[in-house]
Amino acid sequence: MDVLDAVDIGVMPALGQIPKRMRAMVIRPERYGEPRSAFVEELIDTPEPRAGEALVYVMAAGVNYNNVWAALGRPVDVIAARQKAGESEAFHIGGSDASGIVWAVGDGVENVKVGDHVVAHCGVWDVNDPWIRDGGDPIVSQTARIWGYETNWGSFAQFTRVQAHQLLPKPENLSWAAAAAYMRVGATAYRMLNGWPPHVVRPNDVVLVWGGSGGLGSQAVQIVRALGGIPIAVTSGPERGEFAMRLGAHGYLDRRDFTHWGALPDWRDDNAYNEWAKGARAFGKAFWDVLGERRNPRIVFEHPGESTIPTSIFVCDNGGMVVICAGTTGYLAAVDLRYLWMRQKRLQGSHFANDEQCAAFNEMVARGEVDPCLSRTFAFEDVGVAHQLMYENKHPEGNMAVLVGARDAEQRDG
Ligand code: NAP
Repeated sequence: MDVLDAVDIGVMPALGQIPKRMRAMVIRPERYGEPRSAFVEELIDTPEPRAGEALVYVMAAGVNYNNVWAALGRPVDVIAARQKAGESEAFHIGGSDASGIVWAVGDGVENVKVGDHVVAHCGVWDVNDPWIRDGGDPIVSQTARIWGYETNWGSFAQFTRVQAHQLLPKPENLSWAAAAAYMRVGATAYRMLNGWPPHVVRPNDVVLVWGGSGGLGSQAVQIVRALGGIPIAVTSGPERGEFAMRLGAHGYLDRRDFTHWGALPDWRDDNAYNEWAKGARAFGKAFWDVLGERRNPRIVFEHPGESTIPTSIFVCDNGGMVVICAGTTGYLAAVDLRYLWMRQKRLQGSHFANDEQCAAFNEMVARGEVDPCLSRTFAFEDVGVAHQLMYENKHPEGNMAVLVGARDAEQRDG
């Protein structure tokens, strides 16, 4: 085969032919800041798969909040963190969701072969970590990282390098763009709702879902519904609330109707505390009204963090669980411990998912039980625009994708 230097976006080389360089939307430290200007297209040497890895020709990439953080360079400077760990590259190619075609495999790869149509999940880890070798959950390992955020060579490029265990069959019912949109948020939601027994969603369980029309929330609402639970969404405004209801939410609360958000006041300040408690009680009452009965949520699906945790702990049912995977509004969340111990509630951290949970969630999507909720598809050069919308909370409901090898949002296999 001739040696190719590079191809244009949307041009597919012959199967297995690897251009020397690839087009990528690249973040560099000197561009850290607003996402719209942090991502710039560059030609970068195409990486080679090492043992246990695969090179995937990216058809479409998903847009996630983590590369808003990568663009900003905070709370973690991902490039500096990797350089400290011994990697040489002074750039970041983000992207933690992909659909594509396996283009090459490294030694020892048996679960996929060149030509397979796949989606990638974003959990990577060192299989030789003693914790994993002893049967520990890999995503809890100290070696676990999020591909395309904590690692380089993500999906905002023509080729991405992944650990082969990240790859799962692409659901045939989906376009390339839709297939790139769901795994990061969906598998995270799946673990939050299924991974922490005994607090797994059972039929008729009531679940409060913050941001019920967002990336995580849209997946959570559908998972709860598919498992027979009763999802109640919280959104900013009726348009987003109606969207959550179309996905299966029983009802929604508009968080703009309340003002008690943020840190808890000092419990020694009776006036301030009572004022906060009034807001939290009003929220709880509104929750019962939407549900149609006086039942508190057995599971609260949390990710806003600082702004909402006090309310989440307050409204969670006795013996229930607040499960959290992010702190988008901040990390200094105040917990009134009285509610935690007297009412025996659980505050559980959760982070992405393991291979089995990703595979189980992928099957829910393939069976049509969960829709990826692809709302908008962007051209490759608009990776920064998509992340800017997300940064400003002005993005559409559901999940967004970027076309890389695929020609349009509808293109399917073949
Ligand atoms: P998203 O699509 O932007 O959805 C987040 C939703 O949160 C928004 O739709 C918004 O809905 C709601 N929200 C915004 N400000 C809020 C506030 N002050 N109070 C309550 N709700 C608020 O983002 P996403 O993809 O769901 O991700 C959300 C967070 O989870 C991000 O920080 C992301 O990095 C993190 N995450 C973590 C993992 C993990 O593995 N740990 C995985 C995926 C995502 P309304 O304005 O309608 O309320």
